[in-house]
Amino acid sequence: MYNNKLAVCIMGIQGCGKGTQSKKIKEAYDLAHISTGDLFRMHITEQTPIGKELKGYLDEGDLVPDELVIRLLKQEIDRQGKGFILDGFPRNTTQAEFLLQEFEIDKVIYLELPEDLAIARMSARQNCPSCGIDYNLIHKPKVADTCDKCGKELHRRADDNPKAIAKRVATFKKQTEPLLDFFVAKNILVKVDADQAPELVFGQIKETL
Ligand code: ADP
Ligand code: ZN
Repeated sequence: MYNNKLAVCIMGIQGCGKGTQSKKIKEAYDLAHISTGDLFRMHITEQTPIGKELKGYLDEGDLVPDELVIRLLKQEIDRQGKGFILDGFPRNTTQAEFLLQEFEIDKVIYLELPEDLAIARMSARQNCPSCGIDYNLIHKPKVADTCDKCGKELHRRADDNPKAIAKRVATFKKQTEPLLDFFVAKNILVKVDADQAPELVFGQIKETL
């Protein structure tokens, strides 16, 4: 199972479980998990010079300009210096072309989920700022907006509001979904049904890697 040289991407509509599956893949194959969204949120939280610019795009649910995404991604891949799973990249044709020019990508995993389910999942996504527990459609808090363990009020991602959700999904449909055909043509695309329990989704991913 150990393969430090794998280079894999995971794609799919918001809420499809990319983050959850990436963590499992990272562990099982000893890869660097590189999530562009997490990377950007880290810049924002740590108030780095670039964080302020990034925050404007993320809060609105807009894509970050390609040049900036590519620069930060390259830096992170170099810094990690090992095989990787990319989560949230590429999202448009420019990014996809850059990726295949620069790296030898073994597989692109596409997690399929209908739009209505994706929106329901995102709307249910909450986190406890105090103990870090994640809540979602499967794991709901007993009392709305309240942590089961510590009673603190639950937080949502700043961009998990109806307006930003609608924008992110529209951008996905328009710019990211068409990349399916691009990767099919390169013979590296694998589709997995994301409307199953996380362990089952992961089981199917493992069969393909
Ligand atoms: P989601 O996929 O649910 O929108 P992410 O955490 O993957 O959430 O990304 C959060 C935000 O970060 C996106 O809405 C976008 O603003 C920005 N972002 C992440 N990856 C990219 C990318 N590859 N290109 C442009 N913007 C990106
Ligand atoms: Zn808590």
